[in-house]
Amino acid sequence: MNDLIRQKSQAMQAELVRLRRDIHRHAEVGWTEFRTAAVIAARLKELGYEVKMGEAAVKKADMLGVPAPDELSAHMERAVKQGADPALVKAMEGGLTGLVAELDSGKPGPLIALRFDIDANDINEASTAEHFPRKESFASVNPGAAHACGHDGHVAMGLGVASLLTEMKSELKGKIRLIFEPGEEGSRGARAMVGAGAVDGVDHILGVHIGFQATKTGQLICSTGKFLATTKLDVTYTGKPAHAGAAPQEGKNALLAAASASLNLHAIARHGQGATRITVGTLVAGEGRNVIPAHAVFKMETRGETSEIDEFMAGEARRIIEGSALTYGVDYHIEMVGGTKSGESSPATRDVLKKVAIEMGCFNDIRDYIGFGATEDFSHLMTVVQENGGLGTYFMLGANLSAGHHNDKFDFDESVLSTGVELIVKTVVTLQAE
Ligand SMILES: [Zn+2]
Repeated sequence: MNDLIRQKSQAMQAELVRLRRDIHRHAEVGWTEFRTAAVIAARLKELGYEVKMGEAAVKKADMLGVPAPDELSAHMERAVKQGADPALVKAMEGGLTGLVAELDSGKPGPLIALRFDIDANDINEASTAEHFPRKESFASVNPGAAHACGHDGHVAMGLGVASLLTEMKSELKGKIRLIFEPGEEGSRGARAMVGAGAVDGVDHILGVHIGFQATKTGQLICSTGKFLATTKLDVTYTGKPAHAGAAPQEGKNALLAAASASLNLHAIARHGQGATRITVGTLVAGEGRNVIPAHAVFKMETRGETSEIDEFMAGEARRIIEGSALTYGVDYHIEMVGGTKSGESSPATRDVLKKVAIEMGCFNDIRDYIGFGATEDFSHLMTVVQENGGLGTYFMLGANLSAGHHNDKFDFDESVLSTGVELIVKTVVTLQAE
């Protein structure tokens, strides 16, 4: 069977590249992946999968950082213009762009979940002539959205895996659940998919990322840990405007409240049990030179080595934000727009993946583990699976990169797509046989 999986994976390379380039060209950012998700759903249906969409895949109340309704409608329209099936787009109204599909072999065995993230980044793709997607005419046609993290490759691999699994159905055991996650950037999608039951009953979950710390084709990092938990908050202060010369005493200064909060947020005590981060990344305030500023908005985030440490940071942050409001006599509003749990891959799942990778013989640099020290929304899914008694690993599939992740010149070596499909399918089969 191993030879057959290799043959079939390699035979789909051209199709994987075509898919990747189509998704890349029509890049869509978090919660607006209407066309991307419609392409995925259409293909899954064609393969015979029953696809859970809309509120069956995404719990509305748990969605974080959702764009405004008019922005969502504009993106829905654009998706249809760019060829998406209008009925599928309609089913995702409100930004419900997550998808879950399951293959039931009809035989007893474990439930294995595979997570593929589908969103692009909020940047304009490089316009330089030597940028490969530009040269090959598949650079993003959507302003302000570009696949600069490789999620376009993840979508292609996910569909490749979906297709190969259906061909092998008679050889499989248990169930395989495919999770296509929107809004990974900004840690927004996982919570809402967990809320809709995406990881209920899962025995093993696998997550893959092209590149990151594996920056050469032929490298593989079989597991990742030290994912930082994070909380992302938008903070608004509302004061009272007044004439700065004639009656400043009548004003309530929102700018000072925000500025004072920003300084004090960065002064939260370090935590004795592990690493923390805090950043106020933007601050916009005030109306004019001679008006007591009545409005201030800032965007901030906390991170922690564990979910508990991040909760400490976020709790302190809320207290300081409230304190500043009190000091300056202004109103405040805090909106949570992103958040994810910390995480650590399971060695047992890692060992299976590693064994499969060694047998494949095409990796020349296989590493067991890397401590990430950053955030990935997958850790939220994996940690929930582990809390419920399951296992999981997040692996980095090495690929030559043209620039770092989230850089406008980012691109990856497409030859790794079929390797990724082969590795994932073989790992699924091996996990089922355990
Ligand atoms: Zn990414």
